[in-house]
Amino acid sequence: MAIDLEATYKDLHRHPELSFAETRTSGIVADMLTALGLEVVTGIGRTGVLGVLRNGVGPTVLLRADMDALPVREETGLDYASEDCGVDPDGDEVPVMHACGHDVHVTCLLGAAERLLAERAQWSGTVVFLFQPAEELGAGALAMIADGLYDRVPKPDVVLGQHVAPAPAGIVGVHAGPAFAATDDLLVTLHGEGGHGSRPEATIDPVVMAAATVMRLQTIVSREVAGGETAVVSVGTIHSGTKANVIPSEATLGINIRTYDTAVRDRVVAAIRRIVAAEATASGATRMPEVEPAGSFPVLHNDATATERTAAAFVAAFGADRVIDPGRVTGSEDVGALATAAGAPIVYWLLGGEDPSRFVTGLANGTTDADIPSNHSPHFAPRIHPTLEVGVEALVVAAREWLG
Ligand SMILES: [Zn+2]
Ligand SMILES: [Zn+2]
Repeated sequence: MAIDLEATYKDLHRHPELSFAETRTSGIVADMLTALGLEVVTGIGRTGVLGVLRNGVGPTVLLRADMDALPVREETGLDYASEDCGVDPDGDEVPVMHACGHDVHVTCLLGAAERLLAERAQWSGTVVFLFQPAEELGAGALAMIADGLYDRVPKPDVVLGQHVAPAPAGIVGVHAGPAFAATDDLLVTLHGEGGHGSRPEATIDPVVMAAATVMRLQTIVSREVAGGETAVVSVGTIHSGTKANVIPSEATLGINIRTYDTAVRDRVVAAIRRIVAAEATASGATRMPEVEPAGSFPVLHNDATATERTAAAFVAAFGADRVIDPGRVTGSEDVGALATAAGAPIVYWLLGGEDPSRFVTGLANGTTDADIPSNHSPHFAPRIHPTLEVGVEALVVAAREWLG
């Protein structure tokens, strides 16, 4: 079987699936792995799939791809754009898009499975191909581990994987140490006193309270985090009210935090709690707000020695000009849990997916951040070539570096 990378990618892109609903995707993956003749495990961590390629004595390498998509309405205008919908955890029908590029990861890992099988006379050991659900919830890796992942496949000596990113296609980027941020989500409920829109004097307006809180939260990073440290605080959701002439009684804020250091994280969370309570007091609230944790990912820490070894293999394969250190990124990833549970090092790199000429223009005009859509944007549209070929090659090169 020869896997048609472009056709596979376009098919996956056209039919994205939300976290833990990746049934069509995992079916395609399982069929392809079975056709290659690998040992296949399905339904692990709900929709996860494993393929195992045993090839004699030697190290075990785990290669990971995540499979889920996002509740985003695609606006790329591509002829293979998604028009599919899914059902979100609240039971609402929502548009779905591969806005994080996990379809690239799945396609490249299938391509790598085919390549490593074809080249098996040149290496020895075991490769575990892991297709993970629900990365976007930070739940899929843990679900696979809880479902007995390492009872079903050998524990790896190294965990390897990649994420497509808004960097020039043809480039791989790998950073030793804390490479992806820790993230914490907080759900804040602000309590006011509802009433008629014509009589604000008889109410405590939670909309104004929420607006003031959102603005004051912006001072945490600028005024409370040291210049040499990094943190991001974003308010991603704000919900209140049903009608223009009704002052509601409650408002909720969904806050997302990114940090690389536990002390910074603790300081940011404490500042959020303080500001939320103080703004409620300033509004005259009679009931204090609730601040509840709503999910978190730990820092993804690329092992220094393993990263150096893998990066050297990339330089040998691609040339030094195509291997960069992108520094720390503020995105987060749950792939580290697969390595932690195995007691193995992890090396997780960025795969460029953007038209290089757009960087030349963007850098010349100083408009790179505005011009080039990032992951999770409705305009995120990785270039198919050479992104897929380089993604396959990077997985094969990294795996072969570790195999016997
Ligand atoms: Zn994502
Ligand atoms: Zn992602």
